[in-house]
Amino acid sequence: MGPDRGGPIATHRGRCAEAHLGCPCRGDETIHEERSREITEARGRSAESVECPECGSPTTPLAIVSWGNCRACRTAQSREVNPLRW
Ligand SMILES: [Zn+2]
Ligand SMILES: [Zn+2]
Repeated sequence: MGPDRGGPIATHRGRCAEAHLGCPCRGDETIHEERSREITEARGRSAESVECPECGSPTTPLAIVSWGNCRACRTAQSREVNPLRW
């Protein structure tokens, strides 16, 4: 994990390192920090299980904070939205 991985992934204005994890900040630090806090908190509770609001299956608090649903729902959705990305 070096700073240079040979791609244009570096700091792009309006982008964030966690955008692929569903971070909605688009470079807004306030939103980003608030979400980071939620994620940290959710990580601390990763042993708990919560219900996915979409399918009702048990999932982790982190998945809900990150994506708003469980991994299965998210995978199904990303296949629909970006069939070529996976
Ligand atoms: Zn962010
Ligand atoms: Zn689900």
